[in-house]
Amino acid sequence: PPGRPPALEARHLVKDFRGFRATNDVTLGIEEGEIHAIIGPNGAGKTTLFHLLSGFLTPTSGEVRLFGERIDTLPPHAVVRRGLSRSFQISSVFPSMTVRENVLVALQSPTRLPGQFWSRLSTLDALAPRAEEILADVGLEGAHARLAADLSHGEKRQLEIGISLTQDPRVLLLDEPTSGMGTEGIARVTGLVERVARGRTVVLVEHNMGVVAQLAHRITVLQYGAVLASGRYDDVRRDPRVIEAYLGE
Ligand code: ADP
Repeated sequence: PPGRPPALEARHLVKDFRGFRATNDVTLGIEEGEIHAIIGPNGAGKTTLFHLLSGFLTPTSGEVRLFGERIDTLPPHAVVRRGLSRSFQISSVFPSMTVRENVLVALQSPTRLPGQFWSRLSTLDALAPRAEEILADVGLEGAHARLAADLSHGEKRQLEIGISLTQDPRVLLLDEPTSGMGTEGIARVTGLVERVARGRTVVLVEHNMGVVAQLAHRITVLQYGAVLASGRYDDVRRDPRVIEAYLGE
């Protein structure tokens, strides 16, 4: 409907690190239900923008809005409670616990909605069906009893995505979900992202253009901290400025 706010929106975002402008006046709207990829050469500001969008960094100026409401002034746990969750490139997995225990612990996390707070006091049995569902969503149903430490790199990334799903996000941010993976892992995670994106909005930072081509409805290209181009994948990738930015890397 007209006038409906984007799922996630940046307005004139700026982030300075001691005089260095890592994010330069980024304005960007991500519609509900879309898979949106943020791409750009190394040092373009993708990670910084990702941190700003997820509330892990406070902007120097500008705003971040989630379904029309400002979130840049909120602490990260409050952002999660409003429906935005992110996976971490640095592992959030407890290695000495099983895959299933990792998901159960995350399901009991106090960042869940206030109405679900008392679920922390419920038995683990009550959370088990939801844990199984999440493990199936991320393709780890066969691995539930294994120690997280024994998972392959790719399986750990799958578990990390599963852990972010425990927060029932309406908007899911994924930081390079296929990084460090071989062909098989990339295919598996790409399928997984397609699956978890059903009924959700997904924003991902991704450098593998094959993955971007397969997944993203729209992309935003960053260069020197600013938006170089934004739009449908097929239009943006033909943009001469985008081609030049990549060839110049
Ligand atoms: P990308 O993820 O696209 O490679 P980043 O967002 O990591 O880019 O970095 C963009 C620029 O900001 C880089 O030049 C980087 O050195 C700088 N930068 C990022 N984080 C910090 C920080 N905490 N302090 C100082 N400079 C930073």
